[in-house]
Amino acid sequence: MSMDKNYSDATKSVHAGMMENEHLAVVPPIYQTSTFKFRDADHGAALFAGQEEGFIYTRMGNPTIQGLENAVAQLENGHKGLACGSGMAAIQTVFSAYLKQGDHVVCSEAVYGPTTTLLEQIFAKFGVETTFVDTSNLQSIERAIKPQTRIVYVETPGNPTLCITDIKGAAELAHQNGALLVVDNTFSSPVLQKPFLLGADIVVHSMTKFLNGHADVVAGMIVTKNEEQFKLLRKTLNLLGGVIGPMNAFLVHRGIKSLAMRMERHCANAQKIAEFLEKHPKVKQVVYPGLPSHPQHELAKRQMSGFGGMISFEVQGGIEGGKALMNNVKLCQLAVSLGGVETLIQHPASMTHAIMPREARLKAHITDGLVRLSVGVEDADELIADLDQALNTI
Ligand SMILES: *Cc1c(COP(=O)(O)O)cnc(C)c1O
Repeated sequence: MSMDKNYSDATKSVHAGMMENEHLAVVPPIYQTSTFKFRDADHGAALFAGQEEGFIYTRMGNPTIQGLENAVAQLENGHKGLACGSGMAAIQTVFSAYLKQGDHVVCSEAVYGPTTTLLEQIFAKFGVETTFVDTSNLQSIERAIKPQTRIVYVETPGNPTLCITDIKGAAELAHQNGALLVVDNTFSSPVLQKPFLLGADIVVHSMTKFLNGHADVVAGMIVTKNEEQFKLLRKTLNLLGGVIGPMNAFLVHRGIKSLAMRMERHCANAQKIAEFLEKHPKVKQVVYPGLPSHPQHELAKRQMSGFGGMISFEVQGGIEGGKALMNNVKLCQLAVSLGGVETLIQHPASMTHAIMPREARLKAHITDGLVRLSVGVEDADELIADLDQALNTI
């Protein structure tokens, strides 16, 4: 279904991408097929030549997948989407499409870890150089840009520091230098932040997180701004092969129906919990864009329509304090990932980053007592009670 652009996100979440179908099913069927028949030789030739619309082979497109692509593109106010097998597949496809030997990338230093590694260990091998800067400071982007810069890549709010990058300012700097601004919009979801309306050229998502929202699928999305980008990225994705399957596309599309509603609850719960944590004697510091104490709180208010479900905070007692909290929560689940209906808690120093030398870890702003909380949609007071009893064991 092609949606009126002016519909709200609540309406788009429910209806966008729900295509018409033969039996008028309210929920379109899952086209669990790898390939599609040609009516005759001329039909096959016309499809391959692009003279007729239709499906050929699922790596090149599939109706169930296209429904999801349309939904996310419409929520993002973008042109068309390209669903991928994971967020990393989406990011890799964008880099592969636009970068060649000798090119340069300016990337947020507060970015999803594997994105850094992808640039440093894979793209560096092919002669692509990356400068990592604090993109929440526009001057550091400006200083890092070179004549060879092809992509300015920002994640906002960024991982794990939740620092906010001014998308409009970053887009202007990128465009003055002939580069593209690519925004990883995973932490906000299209409901809380619309990068295209602020000047971004390409948006990427890990749909594993808020878009799907139920922690049962790994998936990614690229959203383009125009047909030229779409054609290049479609071809690149088809050649690299990092596509999603129809069943996973169906599940993500189903998850999106409650996206606007979930985001409202994620934001309300996170705000309440962040305010509770900020007053707790066992908590040294809380980082949440919705708190006036956040360094870019004013920018977050301008650029986002809500502050999201992610909170970082530092507990008293260093590593042992963090471990005590992890070992005593009952409702919050100990796991990585984020953006699902269930609240997840993680202590990088004893878990994800335990093998990293302490000095390097501190340099990446991952202090001993840092805890990352992905606030779910449970009852806020029950989450607060759980955190309170666990914090009091420190
Ligand atoms: C999880 C995540 C990714 C990678 O997505 P996968 O679906 O795990 O491949 C990229 N960016 C951000 C911000 C993420 O949180």
